[in-house]
Amino acid sequence: MTDTGILDGKNTAAKVLESVAKSAQVFLDKTGRMPKLAVVHAGSNPASAVYVRNKQKACDKAGIEFQMVSLPDTVDFISILDAIDTLNHSDECDGLIVQLPLPSPDMDENQVISRISVQKDVDGFHPETIGKLWSGSGDIAPCTPAGVIELLHRYSIPLKGKSAVIIGRSNIVGKPLAAMLLREHATVTIAHSRTENLPDLCRSADILVAAVGRPGLVTRDYIKKDSVVIDVGINRVTSDEVPAHWLNPDTSIGAKLKKKGAALVGDVDPFAVQGHAKWFTPVPGGIGPMTVAMLLSNTVKMAFRRMEISHA
Ligand code: NAD
Repeated sequence: MTDTGILDGKNTAAKVLESVAKSAQVFLDKTGRMPKLAVVHAGSNPASAVYVRNKQKACDKAGIEFQMVSLPDTVDFISILDAIDTLNHSDECDGLIVQLPLPSPDMDENQVISRISVQKDVDGFHPETIGKLWSGSGDIAPCTPAGVIELLHRYSIPLKGKSAVIIGRSNIVGKPLAAMLLREHATVTIAHSRTENLPDLCRSADILVAAVGRPGLVTRDYIKKDSVVIDVGINRVTSDEVPAHWLNPDTSIGAKLKKKGAALVGDVDPFAVQGHAKWFTPVPGGIGPMTVAMLLSNTVKMAFRRMEISHA
């Protein structure tokens, strides 16, 4: 039996935020103002509201000013672009993100992302930022993949020469993470909904990343013994959506389901990992907090760069 270690994203994110807070203080001392993150939040998607609140709380802790621009569900596309333009031109806004999804599926997310000034692109989704990431010339990366890499580094998990399989090919997780793992000299495969023989492919991975949005998709037969399993998925489930063995009230998922009728779970069956993988990220408390920490880290980094002052 392998002793499975937990890659603790909550504690690690707190450490990242401590150093972000120190940098934010240096920025304040040098410029007389706090670094500032602006979030354009259009519509009333409840999950987005939770994500925005978490970002605001983290900013408050780290000494970063937070500006929220709330637009109603009925907002038109031009008004969203106008809000971005205003913040692009604001001297005191260092980082700018638009909380996705947009209120209507007819609105073009790519146009919105491209409208954000690349100097303020702290989400790292702008085509120029992504191009630089792939070409190896940039140091800003999308926050979730950056959080995965930071967590692996902090636990000194070797990546060079290792085989990494990422399940999921989204622009915000799977694809940029592939670029980052390549930079770390891993051998990378991206799998997706049309991949054949997925369990066999995953079982070849020293590092397996699940970024799918399907609770419990990754079972024991996907996991190589002694591998590292990173669970990016965040899914809200009720008791009737999970396998029977997740309902045991002596486990944290089972207890939550019993008490609240719902729980947040990942894409990996956590019971399949225990005693089999070498390292594992919990959900919640894994990649989620790391993502917020990296957003703030990007914000402070870009604040210094825009003001043309050094960290030291
Ligand atoms: P997405 O819907 O954009 O992409 C999902 C990907 O999974 C697609 O590439 C699709 O091809 C693949 N896929 C779907 N079904 C599959 C299957 N049966 N087998 C193999 N591949 C399959 O999702 P996303 O935005 O990348 O998010 C993925 C998950 O990660 C979601 O649960 C989301 O909530 C979570 N997420 C977490 C964080 C975080 O901070 N931890 C950040 C972003 C996303």
